Amino acid sequence: MIKNFIQNYTQNLITLLQNIDKNSIEQIINILEQCQKDDAKIYQFSKLMKSIGVDSIKLSGCVVANDGKENNKYHKPFYEEAKKICQKVKDELEDNSFEVFDSYHYLEDKFEKDYTWCPYSQILPVIGADLNIYPCQDKAYNLENGLIGSIKDISFKEFWYNDKNKFFKINPSKDCQNHCVANGKNQMILDYLDVEHLGFV
Ligand code: SF4
Repeated sequence: MIKNFIQNYTQNLITLLQNIDKNSIEQIINILEQCQKDDAKIYQFSKLMKSIGVDSIKLSGCVVANDGKENNKYHKPFYEEAKKICQKVKDELEDNSFEVFDSYHYLEDKFEKDYTWCPYSQILPVIGADLNIYPCQDKAYNLENGLIGSIKDISFKEFWYNDKNKFFKINPSKDCQNHCVANGKNQMILDYLDVEHLGFV
């Protein structure tokens, strides 16, 4: 089943890359550059993604600071308008071949965490282009307090099963006073496990 999934996923990716011509890439870069200045580009960008064969898109706000209030302040001037356009993307572009996940919302004001183990680092790890493994996208490329290890010289499987302690190096109560896409899910898992000490997912 996993093999089929990977084969299908790879084939979709190849088809997608084959369909992207130089013109589309220039349009993508152009639109992304404009997005910050003009919310309407969210619609244009989504439409372009659909036209080149992307089958699922997630719309979410950029995180510009490690402080929730700062982020919300940044988004406030254009929030209502951008939110309407996200809805328009969903209403007009979503169909059986194109899924739209609208995740544009204000962030929590507080990024404090009181737990010391991050279960999601074993569920949503990120393999960086530098072959380092990070616990999540919020910590990607954060070498200071977001590095779990590297697969530069070993396979991912070897990395995964060697020395489980690496999954407990990051202490969210100290290292993750930042936006965290998995905070709610981490709290649910920890509630569910209801343990002080560390499990291995
Ligand atoms: S930011 Fe969140 S998901 Fe990432 S390591 Fe910290 S607690 Fe885990």
